Amino acid sequence: MNEAATATHCPYCALQCGMGLRRTDGPVPVAVEERPDFPVNRGALCGKGASAAAVLAPGARLTTPLVRVDGELRPAGWPQALDLVADALARTAAAHGRDAVGVFGGGGLTNEKAYQLGKFARVALGTSAIDYNGRFCMSSAAAAGIRAFGLDRGLPFPVEDIPRAGCVILVGANPAETMPPFVRYLRELQENGGRLIVVDPRRTRTADLADLHLAPRPGTDLALALGMLHLVVADGRTDEEFIAGRTTGWSGTRAAAMAHWPELVESVTGVPLPQLRTAVTMFCDAPTGMVLTARGPEQQAKGTDTVSAWINLCLATGNAGRPHAGYGCLTGQGNGQGGREHGQKADQLPGYRKLDDPAARAHVAAVWGVDPDTLPGPGRSAYELLDSLGTDVRALLVMGSNPVVSAPNSAHVTGRLRALDFLAVSDVVLSETAALADVVLPATQWAEETGTMTNLEGRVVLRRKAVEPPAGVRSDLDVMHHLAARLGHGEGFPTDPEKVFDELRRASAGGVADYAGISYERIAAEDGVFWPCPSAGHPGTPRLFLDRFATPDGRARFTPVQHRPAAEEPDDAFPVRLTTGRVLAQYQSGAQTRRVAELNAAAPGAFVELHPRLAERLGVADGEPVAVVSRRGRTVTPARLTTAIRADTVFMPFHWPGEANANLHTNPELDPTSRMPEFKACAVRLERAPEA
Ligand code: SF4
Repeated sequence: MNEAATATHCPYCALQCGMGLRRTDGPVPVAVEERPDFPVNRGALCGKGASAAAVLAPGARLTTPLVRVDGELRPAGWPQALDLVADALARTAAAHGRDAVGVFGGGGLTNEKAYQLGKFARVALGTSAIDYNGRFCMSSAAAAGIRAFGLDRGLPFPVEDIPRAGCVILVGANPAETMPPFVRYLRELQENGGRLIVVDPRRTRTADLADLHLAPRPGTDLALALGMLHLVVADGRTDEEFIAGRTTGWSGTRAAAMAHWPELVESVTGVPLPQLRTAVTMFCDAPTGMVLTARGPEQQAKGTDTVSAWINLCLATGNAGRPHAGYGCLTGQGNGQGGREHGQKADQLPGYRKLDDPAARAHVAAVWGVDPDTLPGPGRSAYELLDSLGTDVRALLVMGSNPVVSAPNSAHVTGRLRALDFLAVSDVVLSETAALADVVLPATQWAEETGTMTNLEGRVVLRRKAVEPPAGVRSDLDVMHHLAARLGHGEGFPTDPEKVFDELRRASAGGVADYAGISYERIAAEDGVFWPCPSAGHPGTPRLFLDRFATPDGRARFTPVQHRPAAEEPDDAFPVRLTTGRVLAQYQSGAQTRRVAELNAAAPGAFVELHPRLAERLGVADGEPVAVVSRRGRTVTPARLTTAIRADTVFMPFHWPGEANANLHTNPELDPTSRMPEFKACAVRLERAPEA
């Protein structure tokens, strides 16, 4: 890479690809370059990363605060905007109590911002009402990982280990579209003689690469995993030595699996029994196996149990806690991993500590210089927080999130946001959520500020500032500093990210996600450091669990789980299953990528994907508008006909707002453990749209 380029990382997904940024004299202030030295992506970038600089250009983003006057958002100065926000938050707390002030964060915020936001909520505002959009991302995998291993880190091994596995099962993951540079590891796996199994209701670009593709009905992959485990036991393919030496709880899990007969699993999932048998043979014949999940199994009202079922399969076959084997989660958002470790979650303190643990409260309170008794307790999960807007929660501060598009049951959530007494949003663009706000605070973004991110492997990386931000925008750290000062906390909220990181290190010390030994200097020298890293002399921990799991007795825990139907099964009124996901050229709610011309040209709008047999029954041709109707909403989008989807299922991507928003339909039924909504399976009917 040219010396003049700044080494940094992509603003989008959890792979956190390395890239170089070189300054330009044009309206887009930097140009993106490849950075082959970074080990995760080795120079490769997808179209989103390669075009990321476009969002830095004037016109694509906010450059001045906006304040609502007579119903219109109008430009304002920073002092006025900050005064309005601080006054509204203080007034709301005085009138309705501290928990009437809410904070909603994001999985794209840097570690420093996520940490500071949790502290800001609990110290400056004294509220328990904080959660973030990562709850909608990987919380079920996190809950299942903690349940089994005592610790949640997306991948317990570096991505470089994947090609050395004998067999990889990808469940509900489509990295060929969501993180294309990752596909290199799947190809290398196959070049090495390893096998790839993809579980997905759609024959995605990733499924096209697979040695075996299983296409279960949406919401039935828990049953699929139980069926595989049943066959593993029946065929005598369990690893008894591993089970006896390194796990607990096998007998209950074994009994639960044996109650799920393969023929029953075939009828529930729609996966033919011979394919199920082939999958078991492939997995068990391999010297080592991995199961990697993404949002498919996780975004369900039984997401935690579904992930546990796949973890049980790993444990029963001895595929955990040894090289080139194990369970992992492909986290989605840029800082989906770090975003859940530092205290912006409703029930957590920095270091992945529990908010209701007295020792954790005492440790963090000491770092923060406050009395532990003044720290609020756990609050509501993301959807429950959004659902309480306008009633229990009367004022809300949103940082780096766009729930109008990304939350389930989005028309209802939009209504709750409108019912607030006061809404402030800090973002880089005028997102659909920011457009509803009383005050909009324009934020600096990735290339304009320094901060750390933790990628899907638990590797802490440094995003470096490459260019000065435009006049008129401020860092979220600066916003929190000035709001805290106005709320009577003049100390404790520094604006220098390295100072915040140093405090984060102390707050995390001794916790599960221990960053104490990680410094900006080390990250720069080593191009990333894996947590846990408890001291400056510690090398970091790329591979977890090789000697023991992070449970009190060092053993992994089986959890018996049972199949149950989706919260909303098809019926006469809504006879088709809807599942949702992403497309290659857009990212999450599309707030950034919809503003990039070349990405918009590649993926200009929503569509509904359906099988030609279903289309024929409706009398719909490819490209014609179709109304998708659920109990929660109605969308009209063009039909896209493909044989790559089950005939009983339709698919919509979720990157677009308004009439095209797939999340108008998604079901807010929550997983009892992770509080994850059921994004991935709901019931709809399709109608020819009047325009057809
Ligand atoms: Fe960015 Fe993810 Fe694409 Fe890499 S794969 S360039 S991190 S969006």
